[in-house]
Amino acid sequence: MKNHPADLQAFLEALHPAVPPPWGIGKVASYIPELAKVNPDLFSICLVTVDGQVFEVGDFQQLFTIQSISKVFVHGLALEDHGRDYLLTKVGVEPTGDAFNAIILDEHSKRPYNPMVNAGAIATTSLIQGQGPAERLNRLLSMFRRYIGHDVYLDGAVFVSERTSGHRNRAMAHLMLNFGMIDEPIEESLDLYFQQCSVMVTCRDLAVMAATLANHGVNPLTGERAIAGQYIKDILSVMYTCGMYNFAGEWAYQIGLPAKSGVCGGIIAIVPNLMGIGVFSPPLDQRGNSVRGVKVCQALSQEFELNLFDLL
Ligand code: GLU
Repeated sequence: MKNHPADLQAFLEALHPAVPPPWGIGKVASYIPELAKVNPDLFSICLVTVDGQVFEVGDFQQLFTIQSISKVFVHGLALEDHGRDYLLTKVGVEPTGDAFNAIILDEHSKRPYNPMVNAGAIATTSLIQGQGPAERLNRLLSMFRRYIGHDVYLDGAVFVSERTSGHRNRAMAHLMLNFGMIDEPIEESLDLYFQQCSVMVTCRDLAVMAATLANHGVNPLTGERAIAGQYIKDILSVMYTCGMYNFAGEWAYQIGLPAKSGVCGGIIAIVPNLMGIGVFSPPLDQRGNSVRGVKVCQALSQEFELNLFDLL
């Protein structure tokens, strides 16, 4: 990192008003009807360092649903439940270059391509262990609580909205069942997937979760371990190659950090051993990434030389 962390707050305060509102460029996600109700002007940035310093600006206490960013953490729990070798037989680690909701499966290896696209995420969620739906949900919520550092709740309206409009995700689950890629009960697993997407977080929560990954699995604010350190490399590698929808290659080239975005307008990025980045701004570009979120990460990466290959 080029500059000292003490510069971070001043940099954020100058950056926040300098990133223009994406009027006419970005659009709030509307395919889940409840998501269309969000205020498009909300905008926050938060950085949490691995030694527990918090830098934040904007609407960082605003709650929103985590959406696809949940996939990173559920992937981690599935790794803990089953180990890397078994999980690899069920879900690949290959980027698709296609949209997050593309109905494509690797029929040759009988797996969805990776845990960051919807098909792979539904398959990953279907592997979360527990006796019945309540225990499985409680395991997910406890996992999120460890990363965030306080209790977490679902947005019931978003969950119901997605559950009733999620025909595409339901179709993918049935296709995977047909190919023997996932097992029954798929309705229960779909519910769990819709529930994980409906977990409510703030921008600060996102940054703490990202910092926990940057800190090898230990939450830097609470000192609690959220995930066994041995799986962090697996999680970050998949984020690096598959985390930013069909912009993942360009993102790696320009910004050079493991990251994940969601249709809520959130982005997390991880600077290993240094800090977690959380950004929230709902208007999305055509690939589904927050327009302002991408700009903020570009600016941070350039200013502080955060690209993993800046080390060279
Ligand atoms: N719940 C969303 C879906 O499955 C997540 C999509 C996203 O954030 O990329 O459609």
